[in-house]
Amino acid sequence: MEQRAYEVLIIGGGISGATLLYDLALHSDVESVCLIEKYDHLDPLNSNAHSNSQTLHCGDIETNYNREKADHVRHGADMMLQFVDHGSGDPSLKRNYGKMLLGVGEEEVASVQKRFASISDLYPSLIEVDADAIADIEPNVAIVDGKQRAEPIFGLYNPEGYAIDYGRVTENCVAQAQGVEDKTIDICLSTEAKKITRTDDGFEVSVNNGDTIHCKFLVVSAGTYSLHLAQTMGKGKHFSVLPISGSFYFAPEVLNGKVYTVQNPKLPFAAVHGDPDMTKAGVTRFGPTALMLPVLERFNSKTALGFMESFHFSTGTAKTLFHLMKDKDIREFIYKNIGYEIPVHGKKSFLKEVLKIVPSMKLDDLDFADHTTGVRPQLIDEKNAELLMGAAKFSDGDGVIFNMTPSPGATSAFANAAEDLVTVTKYLGRTIHQESYKDVFQVNAT
Ligand SMILES: Cc1cc2nc3c(=O)[nH]c(=O)nc-3n(C[C@H](O)[C@H](O)[C@H](O)COP(=O)(O)OP(=O)(O)OC[C@H]3O[C@@H](n4cnc5c(N)ncnc54)[C@H](O)[C@@H]3O)c2cc1C
Repeated sequence: MEQRAYEVLIIGGGISGATLLYDLALHSDVESVCLIEKYDHLDPLNSNAHSNSQTLHCGDIETNYNREKADHVRHGADMMLQFVDHGSGDPSLKRNYGKMLLGVGEEEVASVQKRFASISDLYPSLIEVDADAIADIEPNVAIVDGKQRAEPIFGLYNPEGYAIDYGRVTENCVAQAQGVEDKTIDICLSTEAKKITRTDDGFEVSVNNGDTIHCKFLVVSAGTYSLHLAQTMGKGKHFSVLPISGSFYFAPEVLNGKVYTVQNPKLPFAAVHGDPDMTKAGVTRFGPTALMLPVLERFNSKTALGFMESFHFSTGTAKTLFHLMKDKDIREFIYKNIGYEIPVHGKKSFLKEVLKIVPSMKLDDLDFADHTTGVRPQLIDEKNAELLMGAAKFSDGDGVIFNMTPSPGATSAFANAAEDLVTVTKYLGRTIHQESYKDVFQVNAT
């Protein structure tokens, strides 16, 4: 049994863990960091390009974000772009696609116009587009059989839209960290944290091969697993995880950029959208679906145990679910998403969503994207009986941080890492290299 010691240990080899590793290695004087990942490669789950929508969420076309959240998300998106442009050395991590919010029918058209009035000052390149302009940008959205589609349509269009391969950003961050000389930066794959114990000078983490890793500061960025690990340490006891899996359908190339639909603002994720798949030339992806499943990883039934450990059948959870089901729109949304999973019927009913974006789409052109799926760890606050709309962090100044990261957690990864970088260095009495940080991100780490 081997014992090792580091200043900082990070659990989780997704984008949250990797961005913090990068910051600590390249932009601080922390001397030893270890990152452990339970699978045998980096970004195996939600940060992989196959598991998420590859969207850099800026808040302009996401109608589930109010102005305040849109502004907040925009800052995180800027940091991701700055990293790709000034820090990664690999411009192919991003692709520029125009993005559109599409309103279909009188009611949605009015809501899209209202959104423009309320947020346009935050997004100088965002413009309103009528049916003719939409036909120029995305002919398959506006035109059917050579004529304008029947329903009224109206959109917001931003040519400054980006897709990001968050999996490759993860790998890029880790590779750069490993390239730093005069520091100990260890990446341990196939290494699963089994037990965390607080010690006099930090933490002791027992891993699957029987080894023990000591650290002064521990950061848990384990995606859907973070809440359970936090609860084993007595943190976040009044939260339950609600895993919302998302799948996609593939279609031939029918869109030039990203086309989002109007989302119910009571739901914490973006509505079904269509966009070119960054990793597959000539393919348009539609999705994601949103299905609550009692597992922490899709197609891995063993993870049902992890779900049972971090979902509590309490009054607060029951009240939250009851309130959600009481809302007609949410109820219909939940039933619809269950329907998408039923063989044959699922594809037919998903086609209705796609027809809203591309009215000439044919059933035969849609294919369920096998194993192209991820799980969003939405949290229920049992004390206040409410579903949290975004990420959560337990950081109490006691040497450990837990990150829970539903969408848009990949977009916000560097903003989130900046917060953790400040907390970790302050706790350890270490220094952030603000100059080198600013060279990349154009802002100080705060
Ligand atoms: C369908 C879908 C669409 C999405 N679309 C977008 C989008 O377009 N834009 C966006 O910004 N965000 C999107 N998201 C959200 C985004 O994918 C996540 O917020 C982000 O990937 C979270 O990264 P992470 O590193 O925190 O978690 P993960 O990528 O899940 O990584 C956690 C890692 O921890 C490891 N781990 C877990 N337990 C242990 C343990 N005990 N020991 C060691 N390792 C462990 C796991 O194996 C995993 O590799 C989407 C998510 C889904 C599901």
